[in-house]
Amino acid sequence: MGVELKLSPFTFEGVPEERPLVMAGPCSAETEEQVMETARQISHYGIKIFRAGIWKPRTRPSAFEGVGKEGLPWLKRVKEELGMYTATEVANVKHVYDALKAGIDIIWLGARTTANPFAVQEIADSLKGVDIPVLIKNPINPDVELWIGAIERINRAGITKLAAIHRGFSIYSKTLYRNSPQWEIPIELKRQIPDLPIITDPSHICGSRDLLFEISQRAMDLDFDGLIIETHCNPDKALSDAQQQITPDELNRLLKRLI
Ligand code: PEP
Ligand code: MN
Repeated sequence: MGVELKLSPFTFEGVPEERPLVMAGPCSAETEEQVMETARQISHYGIKIFRAGIWKPRTRPSAFEGVGKEGLPWLKRVKEELGMYTATEVANVKHVYDALKAGIDIIWLGARTTANPFAVQEIADSLKGVDIPVLIKNPINPDVELWIGAIERINRAGITKLAAIHRGFSIYSKTLYRNSPQWEIPIELKRQIPDLPIITDPSHICGSRDLLFEISQRAMDLDFDGLIIETHCNPDKALSDAQQQITPDELNRLLKRLI
């Protein structure tokens, strides 16, 4: 079955149209100070798109589940004071409503959401008539059809500014990575939908800091379009995904080394 999408360019006013398109920011928004400090440092290096999770899908219920909509005004400050675009994850219709109301510029569907067609369809229905760029992470399971299905559902709701995020796949056997990259899957996605940008998320693939550069370089070698990298002003103290987050300085060094 062919994939027919109606896409528009995944570009942003004031953001250079060069590879990689970089999105950076903490796994989670934790406090107003942490958000502002991280954003200031990232913006100092010329990065224009700020990511931060407000609602966090955690494996176990006792983990930090995000600050919730209380954090949305912090992202608004990032946008107003630093002129950055802001991006956050939405997993249900309530999240979409709150994010849009707060003026979030870009939303993404997380890996657990993409794996659930009912959830994706509800979000898609809530986006009808809304003009917002949407990123769709790969489903946690290595299934390119499920990934394409989520992209189609969002596109059929009228969202044309779309990109895919490659964040690796859950497999039972222990590997070097937190989520196995399974490069053949995003490559197959690109084969089926050549015009859809692919943004690699080395942070969630690696689960630790040491392999971030190699994964980022590999994404560039494969001609993928962008990188989304978890960046925190004090990574060791992060309330979620501490082991994989890097400082804005380290992010800058990583990006400068990329060929
Ligand atoms: C995240 O980006 O912090 C996140 C929760 O991602 P994923 O859906 O890829 O696990
Ligand atoms: Mn994370």
